[in-house]
Amino acid sequence: MIPLMKPLMDEREAQAAARVILSGWVTQGPEVAAFEKEFADFVGAPHATAVSNCTTALHLALLAVGVGAGDEVITVSHSYIATANAVRYCGATPVFVDIELETFNIDPNLIEAAITPRTKAILCVHQIGMPCDVDAIVAIGVKHGVAVVEDAACAIGSEVEIGGQWEKIGAPRGDIAAFSFHPRKIVSTGDGGMLTTCNPAYDKQFKLLRQHAMSVPDTVRHGSNQVIFETHPVLGYNYRMTDIQAAVGREQLKRVPEIVATRRRLAKRYDELLANNLGIETPREPANRRSNWQSYSVTLPARCDQRAVMQAMLDAGIATRRGIMCAHREDGYRNGWELPNSEFAQDRRIILPLYHQMTDEEQLQVAETLKRACA
Ligand SMILES: *Cc1c(COP(=O)(O)O)cnc(C)c1O
Repeated sequence: MIPLMKPLMDEREAQAAARVILSGWVTQGPEVAAFEKEFADFVGAPHATAVSNCTTALHLALLAVGVGAGDEVITVSHSYIATANAVRYCGATPVFVDIELETFNIDPNLIEAAITPRTKAILCVHQIGMPCDVDAIVAIGVKHGVAVVEDAACAIGSEVEIGGQWEKIGAPRGDIAAFSFHPRKIVSTGDGGMLTTCNPAYDKQFKLLRQHAMSVPDTVRHGSNQVIFETHPVLGYNYRMTDIQAAVGREQLKRVPEIVATRRRLAKRYDELLANNLGIETPREPANRRSNWQSYSVTLPARCDQRAVMQAMLDAGIATRRGIMCAHREDGYRNGWELPNSEFAQDRRIILPLYHQMTDEEQLQVAETLKRACA
């Protein structure tokens, strides 16, 4: 079976976890602090806060920029449902705008028409690792006094060119960026998330709220020779990452350059192997953006039935997924939305296997099987 994705982990991650387990301190502590520092350095952000996953990261990000009951947040339906759910956790309503067909990310030209007096934030997504047009989105946010949060769940190692310089996603360009370490992403801690920001007040709030809003972190209390009584001044959450996960994350982070380079090579090879006259469209990367190729997705020709192609691939031992879901087609979000490009992307695209360890032979087999299924 050729899987969609495989984590790249070995003795290095296993020993990192073992080291923490044997240390006597397993929950959020020194490893989390070290992982945050290393992650911030990697993406070029002044501050980073580790949390339990990207969904909780998005929740804290939206709370920080002031999203609350009755507010609206402009985002895409064409994303994993966690994006829209995080808006609802704040008591706010997601306002969906359609995507552009070049990158399958939010279409900046549609954002202004969706802004109302209740708009508190724009939650843009770097979907499957392809950077969205974050500079255009930030310009709109600035013009209207609306915060920009980047759902960078898939985008560790993706880059945008700003004024002739390549910058990593998460620097961040918006007010806050949120990352995921779920095994479906390019590096993993089992589950986990990270927030980056240039705003020290936001960072302070993340570190407070992720730990029940406890006034004194337990690491400080444990290390003190004075008795400390902590307080909980506001509503907090348990969104902590454990030190076991953080130690694994520190090892994973070292691998990102190598993983991204390999994925770029494999994506380019898919482009070549799938050059065809069958109507299969390979993804496009705009000149000023570099994907980490968290997923490699192709658009099928209109005459091909998506499910039939996926079944033919499965019968040949190859896992695929259909295009990224659309939240507005789920019961909790149906409201007469008209998002033709989002629906097109879900119905006509399929995601092909792509993992670091993939052999040339496996990749050839995927490409040949897909072309046969579409012929
Ligand atoms: C995976 C993903 C999430 C959720 O991440 P978790 O770490 O699983 O909570 C959110 N948004 C996007 C775009 C994702 O791909």
